[in-house]
Amino acid sequence: MPELPEVETVRKGLQDRLGNFWINNIEVCRERSISSKGGAQEFIAKMDKSLVGEWHRRGKYLIARMYKKNKIQKKSQALYFSGWWVIHLRMTGQFQWYPKALTSACPHTRVRLWGEQGQELRFVDVRSFGQMWWIPPESTPEDLINGLKNLGPEPFSKDFNSVYLQQKVHGKTRSIKSALLDQTLIAGIGNIYADESLFSAGILPHKPSGKLQKDEIIRLCKSLVKVLQVSIGEGGTTFRDFRDLTGVNGKYGGQAWVYRRNKMPCRKCGEIIKREKLSGRSTHWCPNCQG
Ligand SMILES: [Zn+2]
Repeated sequence: MPELPEVETVRKGLQDRLGNFWINNIEVCRERSISSKGGAQEFIAKMDKSLVGEWHRRGKYLIARMYKKNKIQKKSQALYFSGWWVIHLRMTGQFQWYPKALTSACPHTRVRLWGEQGQELRFVDVRSFGQMWWIPPESTPEDLINGLKNLGPEPFSKDFNSVYLQQKVHGKTRSIKSALLDQTLIAGIGNIYADESLFSAGILPHKPSGKLQKDEIIRLCKSLVKVLQVSIGEGGTTFRDFRDLTGVNGKYGGQAWVYRRNKMPCRKCGEIIKREKLSGRSTHWCPNCQG
């Protein structure tokens, strides 16, 4: 599943490619990809003939501001803010960009958006868990999407720090690994970056989160930010399903310390990396470096 660095890579790609993208036509190939009220019909009606504006990211959500031309003031061509376009890629959702018009699309194509010159932005999703919303301008995405409303702080924000994390895990028996996956505690962390940052901080993933010492909490906060920053710089991980807009896979996976390195020697100490299911998620760690 794409995590914060992969979603950030997609955001940058969308921001770069869709500089002046006026939507001229939309096709929703699968109704369930649209999660907002009114379904595909409303989505198409509101999104068509609009300009895709600035892209933001919050946790694993992509959010664009949409604009339309003011019909009353035709001469001035003034734009007005017409709503929000929100996307969650979930397991396998990805955007593909085609600068020239193509007629056929693969069977996993869920939504197609064409620009004025026939260029196409395509949403492809093999597992079909990805979601899109159109949010009216008088609301905020947080008002209408529960996952966004309940999202914890961004790892890079000042709201996320050791004091906050210590407060949140105080007295908790659940493992630190499963705490890190909780989107209401911290936004954007998934399996890869939870395992990698716990390795970097030298903390055993099974450790009850409430038992973490202050110095461990401080190390973990620093490790999370560092691991995410490195991965963003590398364009996201190379895990199977992730592609940026041009079909390029990130480079971070090649540098992973523990993730998907089961039975391989630890890059730091040579000990064999272990893998085990922890709260239903495959977890990787070095028994020597972490503990
Ligand atoms: Zn090791």
